Amino acid sequence: MGRSKADLLGELKARNVQFLRLQFTDILGINKAVELPVAQFEKALDGEVVFDGNSIEGFGRNEVEESDMLLRPDYDTLLVYPEGLEPTPQGTVARLICDVTDPNGKPFEGDPRQVLKRQLERLSQHGFDNFYVGAEPEFFLFARSPEGSPTTQTFDRAGYFDLAPTDRGEEARRDMVNTLAALGFQIEAAHHEGAPGQHEIDFKYAEALKTADDLTTFKFVVKRVAIHHGLHATFMPKPVAGINGSGMHLHLSLFKGGQNAFFDPQGEYELSSTALSFIAGLLEHTDGMMAVTNPLVNSYKRLTPGYEAPTSVAWSVSHRSAMIRVPKRRGVGTRAEYRIPDPSSNPYLALAVILAAGLDGLENKLTPPPPIERSVYDLSVRDRRKYRVSELPGTLGEALEALRRNRIIREALGKDVYDNFVAAKELEWGSYRTAVHRWELDQYLAEY
Ligand code: GLU
Ligand code: MG
Ligand code: MG
Repeated sequence: MGRSKADLLGELKARNVQFLRLQFTDILGINKAVELPVAQFEKALDGEVVFDGNSIEGFGRNEVEESDMLLRPDYDTLLVYPEGLEPTPQGTVARLICDVTDPNGKPFEGDPRQVLKRQLERLSQHGFDNFYVGAEPEFFLFARSPEGSPTTQTFDRAGYFDLAPTDRGEEARRDMVNTLAALGFQIEAAHHEGAPGQHEIDFKYAEALKTADDLTTFKFVVKRVAIHHGLHATFMPKPVAGINGSGMHLHLSLFKGGQNAFFDPQGEYELSSTALSFIAGLLEHTDGMMAVTNPLVNSYKRLTPGYEAPTSVAWSVSHRSAMIRVPKRRGVGTRAEYRIPDPSSNPYLALAVILAAGLDGLENKLTPPPPIERSVYDLSVRDRRKYRVSELPGTLGEALEALRRNRIIREALGKDVYDNFVAAKELEWGSYRTAVHRWELDQYLAEY
């Protein structure tokens, strides 16, 4: 932490780095990068590398406005790629994650990393030191066809935590764990998930910005290593009907004065009023956040009953069918597990809206309904009223509608990101809605 430019130049030299990649993400969470040779390293570290914002999804503004933008590297994010991650005979590659600025060096409001930084700024105005986030990204490993295109074939019949020596995916996953560890990740757990071909790798929680940065690295590494094993890794939320989809549970906590601000030994459920209001804020704004945390048409096919994924607005101190669960740990490890997001989301935007929702809960001292301690999938009408249970948006279209109605989430995204994001997602939803799908032909073509 706190490296200087001279430190960085020294390190790049000592490790014989030949190419420096300046990385950032577009609004859809896709990694973008400009790669520079040694002669340009100084310029790169000085934040003087220019790119055309109009060619990046969601960065375009109107034509009269200046579209040149600058990349200002965050020196704390240096990673030197270990040998074999991305074989480049021309020499070692390193990367730095960047903030995007306008030509005068002013942070660009439409940069997803900036959107998260703005909420973190609000958090510190509330007197908190940290927003800690631990992510549990799930993904599938599938075979590739002889031509190399991804399929949905798996090699294994294993399930959750199974020891399956025949699974080629296991080998690939072990390699992913080693590569991530070589890049400085502290891997906490790696296991087979509930569905055939499904895996999860958990790394240690960190401050929100670092976790978001790490998630971009994580996805890149998982996909790369899968390729080396002749496999395809996908973070698509529901690639196969009839089996579990892939979520990305987020374990959330706030810290103040070095203490976990969610813990109160005297509080109800040993949770502080901060924790309860934060949870109430998440419950209040989940509908409006979902277009961001679950951004694909396909995301909503994961959120159906029977697949360990949430379907309604409810919280629980134990049951996994609820969208928020509070794991047993108390004291420093007290946290809320938010089970809605999926790994196709842009991690910067997802964490920004989640924090905005929680902070709104704190500002308005919201209180949550009582927690539910049994399956949320089959509650009576009366219980649904008692626990204030409502259904989540069932489609991307409904989620976009809920986002349009939610001022807190709109403001958290900021005008640039909101406008560009909604425009892109409306196109996506419209194109899905008007397409005629295989299912419809199978169902209707012969019959009618
Ligand atoms: N795959 C499940 C989901 O879609 C989660 C399974 C688990 O509890 O880890 O959220
Ligand atoms: Mg899991
Ligand atoms: Mg979990």
